[in-house]
Amino acid sequence: MAPDAPLGALEIQRRGVGPRDVRIDIRFCGICHSDIHFARGEWGEIPYPAVPGHEIAGIVAEVGSEVTRYEPGDRVGVGCMVNSCRECENCRAGNEQYCLAGNTQTYGSVDRDGTITYGGYSDHVIVDEDFVVRIPDGLPLDAAAPLLCAGITTYSPLRHWNAGPGKRVAVVGLGGLGHMAVKIAHAMGAEVSVLSQSLRKQEDGLKLGAGAYYATSDDTTFTELAGHFDLIINTVSAPLDMGRFLSLLRTDGALVNVGAPPEPLSVPVFALIPQRRTFAGSAIGGIRETQEMLDFCAEHGITAEIEVVAAGQVNEAWERVLASDVRYRFVIDSATLEDGR
Ligand code: NAP
Ligand code: ZN
Ligand code: ZN
Repeated sequence: MAPDAPLGALEIQRRGVGPRDVRIDIRFCGICHSDIHFARGEWGEIPYPAVPGHEIAGIVAEVGSEVTRYEPGDRVGVGCMVNSCRECENCRAGNEQYCLAGNTQTYGSVDRDGTITYGGYSDHVIVDEDFVVRIPDGLPLDAAAPLLCAGITTYSPLRHWNAGPGKRVAVVGLGGLGHMAVKIAHAMGAEVSVLSQSLRKQEDGLKLGAGAYYATSDDTTFTELAGHFDLIINTVSAPLDMGRFLSLLRTDGALVNVGAPPEPLSVPVFALIPQRRTFAGSAIGGIRETQEMLDFCAEHGITAEIEVVAAGQVNEAWERVLASDVRYRFVIDSATLEDGR
């Protein structure tokens, strides 16, 4: 209800099922750090009341008369966006996340009918079929939910910057996005290292697929690994000293920021110029790519490491995310929403 208010139960109104809409019974919804940045107004003012949640996994309950790809009973997901202009060059190329008119976000956006979108911390959602993806049978809905944001947000830059055999990839921050980045980069065949604040989660990181694990609190990490990586995926939700991390890239290497702290990051150009390094950003992924990522995860047996929570535990879960005490994604069991337990 307000930037500093705890989350509570709220009744919301959704539009009716239009001809191209799918009504989804939400079974599980992941908790992304973006939900917290957003709901607390850290990225700018937002309309309240707000309903976060963009890692939605559920079952199709009803479809509109013109829907062709889904039917009741299908296992489906919805990620961070629910519409886009469909006409600009980026939409036509399948990069709806970079829609030049701005995509319609799953929550906090103005929808086509002028209402504000409400996210997945709720019992159902109504979405145009073009923005719904299919969750392969092999993936359990609870552990697949986080793939809809954490999975695609790391898969897309790993693919774009060609993570694969012979490539050294570092993942900064072992949280929700970070642990997915480790699993996916490993499955792509890259040599993966984790750069975490401490060695507290080292054993987990190695189990998830990392070949090496380093503490960024230890200065020798930065001397030992200077010029070492082809690609660094920074998932950290707070500003870091970018110069130190850029120095870990080889010639022509790229550091891709997916972490989205509200504060600006300062980038020393002399960490870029001498080795023709790239500093880049990346947002989620397109719808086609999201389906490709889900199929890739099914093929490689990849899901998130999750802790399922009831609706009544969400405030506590948020505090634990903020304290980097998440292993590695909280997922809300939507069955507990109705009575706010
Ligand atoms: P998360 O689960 O909280 O993970 C962030 C990790 O960063 C923590 O587990 C911690 O890892 C590290 N960290 C946190 N605070 C730190 C600090 N002060 N200094 C150094 N390291 C710190 O969050 P998430 O859900 O993965 O999201 C991460 C960020 O990505 C958020 O800013 C979120 O908004 C953003 N995001 C962006 C996109 C996109 O499309 N670009 C999509 C989704 C999320 P260690 O304990 O291992 O150090
Ligand atoms: Zn997210
Ligand atoms: Zn567009």
